Amino acid sequence: MNEQLLEAFQKALITPKKIVIIPHKNPDGDALGSSLALNAFLIKTGHDSRIITPNEYPEFLDWMPGQREIIKFSQLADESTQLMEDADIIFTLDFNQLSRINQLASVVEQSDALKIMIDHHENPGDYASITYSESSKGSTCEMVFELISSLDHDQIDDAIATCIYTGIMTDTGSFRFPSTTARTHQILGTLIKKGAQPHTIHQKIYDTYSFNRLQLLGTALNNLKKIDEIPVVYITLSQKELNQNNFKKGDTEGFVNYGLSLMGITLAVIMIENEKEKIIKMSFRSKGSFDVNQFAKKYFNGGGHINAAGGVSYLNLDETAAQFTNAVMHEKSQFNV
Ligand code: 5GP
Ligand code: MN
Repeated sequence: MNEQLLEAFQKALITPKKIVIIPHKNPDGDALGSSLALNAFLIKTGHDSRIITPNEYPEFLDWMPGQREIIKFSQLADESTQLMEDADIIFTLDFNQLSRINQLASVVEQSDALKIMIDHHENPGDYASITYSESSKGSTCEMVFELISSLDHDQIDDAIATCIYTGIMTDTGSFRFPSTTARTHQILGTLIKKGAQPHTIHQKIYDTYSFNRLQLLGTALNNLKKIDEIPVVYITLSQKELNQNNFKKGDTEGFVNYGLSLMGITLAVIMIENEKEKIIKMSFRSKGSFDVNQFAKKYFNGGGHINAAGGVSYLNLDETAAQFTNAVMHEKSQFNV
């Protein structure tokens, strides 16, 4: 991070502050890991800090150090609102548009707190007074590491190291996406020295499938379809299929990546029906130059990164699959076929 930005952070944190940290809704390993690490650091350095998540997070993250103290807006709306109104500083982590925090957006917008964004998605919004945004970074956790190690490296303990390691691991697809750099691995080395245990973290995140979740993966793989002529696959999961496998939040995390493990495939998508919200939630993953951030923005009200993005459709599942097929056929020239 550059000198000027570091000075802005130092100035903001020079005296003890009341701080609220907000990750995006449906927080993932990176959103939670970066929030928990920053929160622990801020508390250790004398601030009154807490995390408010817009909603619940999946079970495979509910072991992370410090997560018990997290306040969920969906359960404690009044208390959360009060804390945001009283805050001196609001950090927003792992997103860059306030629409990614649902009902919290208006509270944050109206708050007089100093707003600070730390994020690695494309096209940042302009709601923050301090914007630490780098879309080349593989994770927000990597950025939080750069920040807190510049502020006070000695404060990084095993809990902070574990949270940052987890977010880097989950957002880089276990260190294999192109955003993984030599610097990423240097940071991981430091985190291990500080007490992060790779084998334990890996097991807690990846080897904790329930029987139902593994069966749901079977259903998803059975539903995999290849689009003729172009290297594109998609998976659908209906609400009925989710119910049959006793679906719990987070169960479908990572399923979309199986599409990309097929030889030659450069775009994989999963479409998941959510009857309650009357939407189809979509996740896009690509290899190489096909920009799913642009694609999600253009066709499915979404966004994210070049090789990983999300979006939403308000049609039914079959119609969404048809619309997706039309959309990728429209972009056929991008697949060099
Ligand atoms: P996932 O597919 O794992 O939900 O998300 C992949 C990436 O796209 C993440 O970085 C996530 O923050 C972003 N993303 C997911 N859904 C949306 C969405 O609806 N809108 C935007 N702008 N980004 C999204
Ligand atoms: Mn992230």
